[in-house]
Amino acid sequence: MKSEDCIFCKITRREIPSKIVYENNLNLAFLDIFPISKGHTIVIPKNHYSTLEDIPDNELTELYKVVKKIASMIHEKLQTDGYNILQNNFTAAGQVVKHFHVHIIPRKFDDDKFRVKIPRNQATEADLNNVLKKMEF
Ligand code: 5GP
Ligand code: ZN
Repeated sequence: MKSEDCIFCKITRREIPSKIVYENNLNLAFLDIFPISKGHTIVIPKNHYSTLEDIPDNELTELYKVVKKIASMIHEKLQTDGYNILQNNFTAAGQVVKHFHVHIIPRKFDDDKFRVKIPRNQATEADLNNVLKKMEF
């Protein structure tokens, strides 16, 4: 996708309005328009990168400093009990907007939002060894 057509690039260029939480030279953070919970914030690099594999390491480091700063602020100011950091890559993983972004999702003990409770079975020693053999750099 070209950045001209990208919705998050349009937000960065102020062509689409958004509720901006924080901004610096490399990053922008704004409220998600379909929040999972109150204060659900999206953090993006101002430069257009599609996924985790595209963003340069130095910009990723700077972006996660912003994620930490905002998550800490949300924890205190919105009096949440915790938060999920979610980062979807590629369509199969639920990425809809193809501009790299990190979700900060405030959580309360008694909220009725998602819990990561996916059915799974304990792997055998052989399963772990087989997949580990393929995981090379
Ligand atoms: P994804 O599924 O790609 O990880 O999440 C994209 C997120 O961007 C969704 O949670 C969606 O609600 C949010 N979003 C999509 N379009 C807009 C928009 O125009 N403005 C804002 N503030 N958020 C948006
Ligand atoms: Zn973009």
